[in-house]
Amino acid sequence: MREKCAVFGITSDSDVFDSIYKGLYSLQHRGQESAGMAVCSKGRIRIHKGMGLVSQVFNSVSLDGKCGIGHVRYSTTGLSEVENAQPLLINYSKGSFAIAHNGQIVNAAELKSTLESRGNVFTTTSDTEVIAHLIVREHIKTDDLVAGIRNAMGYLKGSYSLTLLHGNTLIAVRDPSGVRPLVYGKSGDTHVFASETCALDVLDIDLVRDIKPSEIMTITGSKVRSDIGKAGKVSHCMFEYVYFARPDSILDGKSVYEVRKNLGAVLAKEGKVKADLVIPVPDSGITQAVGYARASNIPFGEGLMKNRYIGRTFILPDQKQRDIGVKVKLNPIRSELAGKDIILVDDSIVRGTTIKKLIHLLKDAGAKKVHVRISCPPLKFPCFYGIDMQSRKEFIAAKKTVEEIRKEIGADSLVYTSIKGLLTAIGLPVTSMCMACLNEDYPLTDPQTKL
Ligand code: SF4
Repeated sequence: MREKCAVFGITSDSDVFDSIYKGLYSLQHRGQESAGMAVCSKGRIRIHKGMGLVSQVFNSVSLDGKCGIGHVRYSTTGLSEVENAQPLLINYSKGSFAIAHNGQIVNAAELKSTLESRGNVFTTTSDTEVIAHLIVREHIKTDDLVAGIRNAMGYLKGSYSLTLLHGNTLIAVRDPSGVRPLVYGKSGDTHVFASETCALDVLDIDLVRDIKPSEIMTITGSKVRSDIGKAGKVSHCMFEYVYFARPDSILDGKSVYEVRKNLGAVLAKEGKVKADLVIPVPDSGITQAVGYARASNIPFGEGLMKNRYIGRTFILPDQKQRDIGVKVKLNPIRSELAGKDIILVDDSIVRGTTIKKLIHLLKDAGAKKVHVRISCPPLKFPCFYGIDMQSRKEFIAAKKTVEEIRKEIGADSLVYTSIKGLLTAIGLPVTSMCMACLNEDYPLTDPQTKL
């Protein structure tokens, strides 16, 4: 059950299909394997979903209705199946709802086996269906959907930003730690929930605020209601700022672009070195390289040209696809590199295979020296909260020192941003951040209600 995705939801006084399409299109960087939407028309929810990009899944489909939700998904190989594409549609004695989820439920297997032992039948391998079964159970018990959701949250351990569609009611839910982002925007009679603000911008919707950790926000027509569930320790994912979110998004009040520029400036201080040119690994290192170049007064340049028609190598699901990705994706610009000492800036090192190939490419193209600067401190521990880094074996920094990594990848020098530097760049209190993949301090430790 490994997912990292995006959710979207909208209610308006006109048809919403085009808006959901555009919203999902702008969130495509969060998931490229499947896409789907559910729209309510005349009290009936209709769903369309499939494998592939938003443009492929919806190339000849349209859904009528003024209220709907959408989802884009990424999963690992075995789970990349259309059955797991979202939204999921749930029919039960109290009606029906559609649900879309970004995050990961840590105790999903345990909850699923208890629910199965009590007669619940599951049709997917996705942890989202566990959330849905719990909501159904608690809705039936309490006779109130919001109360049911609040009760269901008590059983769940993990990260979840959700959008739900129940008739013409649109609901957004964020877990008590606020691990994954979720924002609320409004313009006129149109209300939107989205994983990132870039999906509001594309629709000219004004950002109102982030959904609060533990919040359940419900919108029916023009009626907006906010309920706050049991509080948890707030733990926003630092990796959203470093890599995952789009730089033009604003998460929990912080511009991702500014954070990444700050990270570059921090690196210029912590990893100072004499060089002729600062170049990014496109696209993940661009903003940090801009920050580095400005802070160090070393010129910024483009030493690697990206073929922009393929996706990010990191989110391709297996090593073979990743290897192919690196080769066809980046080409060095010899005239920019020949005879120069280069500072190569990227966001993070996971396995080290990509950066090693890039250093080779740059040296083959005539670079004299390649100094590598990485804006995320060494990734050493697995993530169980919705980013696909689930095994320690994946991380080169879990096994090797910085000097050993430098030798392994063939860099002339290697500096990572410190954890202190990372926190300075983000500008949120350390107590409100998850950094478990850096320091093994896993935050979601509150006890759950026993099922
Ligand atoms: S473990 Fe790392 S990637 Fe996972 S939520 Fe925490 S900071 Fe984000």
